[in-house]
Amino acid sequence: MEQIVQQIEAYKQEIAAFQPKTADELEQYRIKFLGTKGLVKALFGEMKSVPNEQKKEFGQILNAFKQLAEGKYEEFQQLKDEGAQAGHELDLTLPAEPHRLGTRHPISILRNKAIRIFERLGFTIAEGPEIEDDWHNFTALNLAENHPARDMQDTFYVNHNPDWLLRTHTSSVQARVMEQGNLPIRIICPGRVYRNETISARAHCFFHQIEGLYIAENVSFADLKQTLYYFVQEMFGKDFKVRFRPSYFPFTEPSAEMDISCLICGGEGCNVCKHTGWVEILGCGMVHPQILENCGIDSKKYTGFAFGIGIERLTMLKYQIKDLRLFSENDLRFLKQFQGTV
Ligand SMILES: [Zn+2]
Repeated sequence: MEQIVQQIEAYKQEIAAFQPKTADELEQYRIKFLGTKGLVKALFGEMKSVPNEQKKEFGQILNAFKQLAEGKYEEFQQLKDEGAQAGHELDLTLPAEPHRLGTRHPISILRNKAIRIFERLGFTIAEGPEIEDDWHNFTALNLAENHPARDMQDTFYVNHNPDWLLRTHTSSVQARVMEQGNLPIRIICPGRVYRNETISARAHCFFHQIEGLYIAENVSFADLKQTLYYFVQEMFGKDFKVRFRPSYFPFTEPSAEMDISCLICGGEGCNVCKHTGWVEILGCGMVHPQILENCGIDSKKYTGFAFGIGIERLTMLKYQIKDLRLFSENDLRFLKQFQGTV
């Protein structure tokens, strides 16, 4: 009897592992275990040679085995029936219906990519509030109350407190970090910013920036250029030209804008680059000494550079998207195109 019980254990393992892939395999299983000449019947036939005092125990083992063998068969028989009702043969090798996973928004893809590039250079992420006060958004950054540069940015103010506003740039985070005074500073500030602009293919009332700030002793414009060269090459590859143009920002002196040769036409001239062959991708410069002093940093000892990158601009260039509004319309036909991209 011991031998038979061992044999039953082996059959039980076989049944547990059984995964039929075709209706034919399932039928083979039925014949082997449950058929008129099958194993279950044969084992019950052994009953007569079992001594009387063990008959009860053996009967229980046999019944459990029979239930297991039948249960497995019914489980797959049911799948087969469901398959037949749905109008196809049982084919358990068919892939399941795919679960459609959500995808990252293209803005997030580019933001994450930019963050990873700057992290490799030792920059860390700093964040701040989107509802900002006047000091951190404007005054600390050299934009005194009547400064004409405030007109460059149309601002959303909060009604019940004229000192509050929706930040117009992530430079407000830089002001907050500088005030803390833990030098040297090497941060990037990714985030959403707001401007009171009419929505069109080229402008929106909110968009995303990554600003960077590096303050230490002996930081030079050469450091700034090298950092930004590295960034654009990691972001877009090496197959284009870069140029710096002198510019004006109230936060930096000297200031520059950085252009890259148009990725879409290769510099030949197209709609995206307005037929100039160049596309502006960021603004930058050496931090104005007055801003360092405003935030309690000794401008004789420390220098620094800052830059601001529009993430929408980067994303439009990278994916050749021509209308800014697509980013916020949540049209699945648009968003699905970025599937599979990390
Ligand atoms: Zn072009």
